[in-house]
Amino acid sequence: MHFIETRGNDGTHPLKVTFSEAILSPIASYGGLYVPETLPELGTAFLEKHLGSGYKEMAKDILARFEVDIDEAVIDEALSLYDRFDDPSNPVPVVKVKDGLYVSELYHGPTRAFKDMALQPFGVVLSSIAQKRDENYLILAATSGDTGPAALETFKNRANVKVACMYPDGGTSDVQRLQMVTEDAPNLKVIGIRGNFDDAQSALKRLLASETFKAKLQEKHIKLSAANSVNFGRIIFQIMYHIHSYLELVRQGIIAVGDKVYLDVPSGNFGNVLGAYYALKMGLPVEKLIVASNENNILTELIQTGRYDMRGKSLIATTSPAMDILKSSNVERVLYDLYGAQRTRELMQQLDNEKYYELTPGELSVLQAYFCADFATAEEGRRYMKAAFENGYLMDPHTATCFKAYESCARENIPTIAYSTAEWTKFSPTIAEALTGEQGARDIDALKAIAETAGVTIPPMIEALFEKPIAQKTVIDKEKIEEEILTFI
Ligand SMILES: *Cc1c(COP(=O)(O)O)cnc(C)c1O
Repeated sequence: MHFIETRGNDGTHPLKVTFSEAILSPIASYGGLYVPETLPELGTAFLEKHLGSGYKEMAKDILARFEVDIDEAVIDEALSLYDRFDDPSNPVPVVKVKDGLYVSELYHGPTRAFKDMALQPFGVVLSSIAQKRDENYLILAATSGDTGPAALETFKNRANVKVACMYPDGGTSDVQRLQMVTEDAPNLKVIGIRGNFDDAQSALKRLLASETFKAKLQEKHIKLSAANSVNFGRIIFQIMYHIHSYLELVRQGIIAVGDKVYLDVPSGNFGNVLGAYYALKMGLPVEKLIVASNENNILTELIQTGRYDMRGKSLIATTSPAMDILKSSNVERVLYDLYGAQRTRELMQQLDNEKYYELTPGELSVLQAYFCADFATAEEGRRYMKAAFENGYLMDPHTATCFKAYESCARENIPTIAYSTAEWTKFSPTIAEALTGEQGARDIDALKAIAETAGVTIPPMIEALFEKPIAQKTVIDKEKIEEEILTFI
């Protein structure tokens, strides 16, 4: 299968690329993205076939339907990383919260957040393509907390790939920072930036545009790549767990194959819910996709009104920071699928130039046929966390946003699968506040308090962080980043 471009072709890019080409150069003509030329039709036959399969077997079949140009041995190695999740026989457990509401837990991997679902296998795939082509890649990442740890973990000691990861010093949780600064491998560099996440991100953008930087990389025969979720190499691994979660409900006797469900997704850059959209398009019986947001509710506004409006808005730092976003990149892939390349290019150019676009009423009703959306404030999030806890379920603030959207969007007679994107251990001070009202606890204290109150254990990889030596000590002003990275490579 080939991949084509969301904004059409500008004559300087190839008309179609393979899966591995789309991974290596994810940016297409006019600044667009790559999307599959057609989606494989799975239908209910695929679901019946995989009722008795394990996660990896089903995942491998999906990769085969996309006809990815990756050697089978590499695919097997990539998928074998799911064996390192808490339960190798089921890396993504689906648990009941109450009648009609189930939570699919995407955080049972090494860094305790859903980014592992895609980045774990993606690391193997990218490194193997680089080796096969005898090329070297530098991956630059700016992170507010979850992508950084997951990218470092997956590329640690992998051949032909180096990672330089920038985070805002003081702008992440202790657990997130420790996950990064205790990573010790010669191909990894972690850089704390004095400033906030926007400073880290704009520093990264400047670097990508710097001619001296690019020339230096070229001298050393190093190519640049990105591990963010515009890369289809990540999206493909985010289709599978939606199908798996559906099959889990069938296995648990809650639905029969063919019954509809809602998929309720805490969203930021729209990669997770895009995977759900593709699963629906490939034949998964989904009534509607529910998009949950926090106070940065630009996606709620788009889906409710048809307006994508960044004018006069600035990013709000919330208690669910992985969803703090204004420009949500993967929406573009849905625009393309619903309205075609020409219209997508028009809308995205308007967004770039005027920070705004508006769908026609006809376009909006097409969008609303697939999506429903709502957002939760921090206060509402705390209420949902507390209520769920009293009902026996411990969840993080990102997951909590789904509960509001569930109440707004789901009809009772159709089961809902909400997604939990982070373990409680990653955002323990916020959860401790929700449960006890006490503010400002340090991570280590909040972790212990919650573990005791809830009668759960802190997983070993989180507990160990507080004892590990700090391997990455660089904290610098943003002006110094280029120099620092050049020294590293
Ligand atoms: C990345 C992330 C999200 C948002 O996912 P998108 O695919 O960017 O929409 C939500 N929750 C957590 C914990 C995350 O790390």
